[in-house]
Amino acid sequence: MDGVDAHAARGAIRTHLHNLAMISKPDLESIAKTLSARSFPTRFAVELTAQCNLRCSMCHHPAMKRPKGVMPFPLWQRCADQIARAAPATQVWFSFCGEPLLEPELLLTCLAYGRAAGLQQMCLNTNGMLLEERWSRRLLEAGLSQVVIGLDGFSAQAYNRIRVGGDRDVAYANVERLLELRRAMPEGPQVLVQFIAMDENEGELELFREHWLARGAVVKARHKLSWGGRFTTHLCTPDDERIPCPWAVTMMHVFWDGRVPRCPGDTEGDESVGNAWQESLSALWDRLSSYRDLHLERRFSELPERCQSCRDWMVGRAERIDGRVGA
Ligand code: SF4
Ligand code: SF4
Repeated sequence: MDGVDAHAARGAIRTHLHNLAMISKPDLESIAKTLSARSFPTRFAVELTAQCNLRCSMCHHPAMKRPKGVMPFPLWQRCADQIARAAPATQVWFSFCGEPLLEPELLLTCLAYGRAAGLQQMCLNTNGMLLEERWSRRLLEAGLSQVVIGLDGFSAQAYNRIRVGGDRDVAYANVERLLELRRAMPEGPQVLVQFIAMDENEGELELFREHWLARGAVVKARHKLSWGGRFTTHLCTPDDERIPCPWAVTMMHVFWDGRVPRCPGDTEGDESVGNAWQESLSALWDRLSSYRDLHLERRFSELPERCQSCRDWMVGRAERIDGRVGA
């Protein structure tokens, strides 16, 4: 990056200072206005594998007890065909509780199938540790809309406390190479680096933003999730300001074995509502409608127990900070 670009990126950082304030106080009612009854989810998470190479401090995965396997390709074909028929613009995320790059060939095969089936928005969420050059090159040409890399720390100390088992310098070098390869292409996915604000990385967001905006990434900053009330967060919105849970109202998840949990807070599948091997995604989404109705009608006290302690409805939108001048 030359001096002019670096200066422009610093200017962009200054113009985005309001984002910090927005991260610290989510505008929940503006989110609530976007939520309504839907005949199909707008976002769909596919657990390509439930295995992971890290043990992150803010994630339930290290303690997860359900069996960990890899999604059979025919299950993805079944899902992709149905999504393409029902709502091809649905955002499909290849991630839930596991690291998709542990299965790079399967991931690329699934992306190729999704693209051919007509899916318009396929996205990848990865911890970046396995993002070797050979996979980066192929992923950039695989028809993805977004690649989000969860990094969370700027210093090695913060990174290592959060991304346990990872290596800050390896992950950073992998993402920097991905960005370099992406810059050389006329078109391809947007590359985002994610920063979840938590105690372990306090005071690092500015440095993180400056580093990554200067390298052409978009910074995605958001509050820590409680994952169905399992983790403490600093968020503390009073009950009388509660809004319908955006996760429950917009999103559906499929575990590697086809099970569909009630919501992302249910990482163990304790409240699974059925299996995508046996039923259509539309039928499973319809089955979840009674919960969505309780949310949308703000009958929160009638929701299952997990929703009573969960704070994930408070988390607000992730802020996307783009370093391009004028963006
Ligand atoms: S890399 Fe992802 S799935 Fe694995 S432990 Fe970390 S947050 Fe959880
Ligand atoms: S508020 Fe309820 S529906 Fe929403 S994530 Fe938490 S447990 Fe799930």
